Amino acid sequence: MSYNVNEKGYYGEFGGAYIPEMLYPNVEELRQQYLKITAEPEFQEEFDALLKDYVGRPTPLYFAARLSEKYNTKVYLKREDLCHTGAHKVNNTIGQILLAKRLGKTRIIAETGAGQHGVATATVCALMGLECIVYMGEIDIKRQAPNVARMKMLGAEVRPALSGSKTLKDATNEAIRDWINNPVDTYYIIGSVVGPHPYPDMVARFQSVISKEIKEQLLEKEGRENPDYVIACVGGGSNAAGAFYHFLDDLDVNIIAVEAAGLGVDSGESAATSALGKIGVIHGSKTLLMQSLDGQITEPYSISAGLDYPGVGPMHANLFATGRAEFISITDDQAMQWGIKLSQLEGLIPAIESAHAFAVLDEKKFKPTDIVVFNLSGRGDKDLNTYIDYFKL
Ligand SMILES: *Cc1c(COP(=O)(O)O)cnc(C)c1O
Repeated sequence: MSYNVNEKGYYGEFGGAYIPEMLYPNVEELRQQYLKITAEPEFQEEFDALLKDYVGRPTPLYFAARLSEKYNTKVYLKREDLCHTGAHKVNNTIGQILLAKRLGKTRIIAETGAGQHGVATATVCALMGLECIVYMGEIDIKRQAPNVARMKMLGAEVRPALSGSKTLKDATNEAIRDWINNPVDTYYIIGSVVGPHPYPDMVARFQSVISKEIKEQLLEKEGRENPDYVIACVGGGSNAAGAFYHFLDDLDVNIIAVEAAGLGVDSGESAATSALGKIGVIHGSKTLLMQSLDGQITEPYSISAGLDYPGVGPMHANLFATGRAEFISITDDQAMQWGIKLSQLEGLIPAIESAHAFAVLDEKKFKPTDIVVFNLSGRGDKDLNTYIDYFKL
């Protein structure tokens, strides 16, 4: 059994492309081209060169000595926080913009919630000199002013989504509407392993550089490629997909996916999709999502904007359903405490998303000989105001 996507775009029963007919030509063009184009040597050379000299890859695999001592196990951190723009997201936007260029597209659209994917998209559009339009809920525009300013500095146009709850899902609707109206010149960069096939697989492949590097780095440091555990937080699931990718079929590696419990799984204010979700369709793919009894998508909640999403990508839905990955949910309070703990034990201020993953150290007992790799998906600069408010710093 493989935990990767099949030719029809499914992970087990999850995935596929549930899209309006008007979107079919765009998605079909991408489906037919993405593997061919990304396999071309010139594509791979350009992708690798940008990851190296622009993003700063390979990111280090850092042995966290004080953390290891405290928890009596061997803890390594994959330092995606050192990527240009502060998180893993840029690995994917670089890959997709190179693909867009080869498809002859001149106009890039994206949607963003907290603004991190918007910034990563605006960054690569500036890099390539392409027009960039980012849809963002009107409420999010107010909440995320620094990222809106960043996008504008980078030359992107930020268009407010004024309908519905004026947040991420409404921005997504606007982006899809734009794509339908501009099928010829426009490419839609999706920011996580979500959306219709081939997006989840394509984004997972671009992010898979994370686990490829972990294998090489562990071999060098420990004499073996595989850790005992690889642990990552899951919003839509792209940093986790990248960290898990090359370990999916290596059953000696335990995979742990960490979701945001918000105020508590049963509080009504949560984003713990595996615990609360049911099978349904969101953003064009069949997956697990939080919904009411009559199938309306439930508003998720997490203190971390990046995990505040009502679904998970189809790869993760399948990892959950098959039991290949263990899913653990961590509350706001636990994550915030780890924001301080990691800062003071290792001198690393994590993104609040990433801080969720580390709380697994309090939930599970690891052996002294275990090698435990955490994906430190991003740095905490963007979260400083949340840390300030929470801890009255
Ligand atoms: C956006 C973001 C996430 C959540 O997105 P995934 O697609 O689940 O990776 C996690 N960590 C950081 C630092 C982010 O910026």
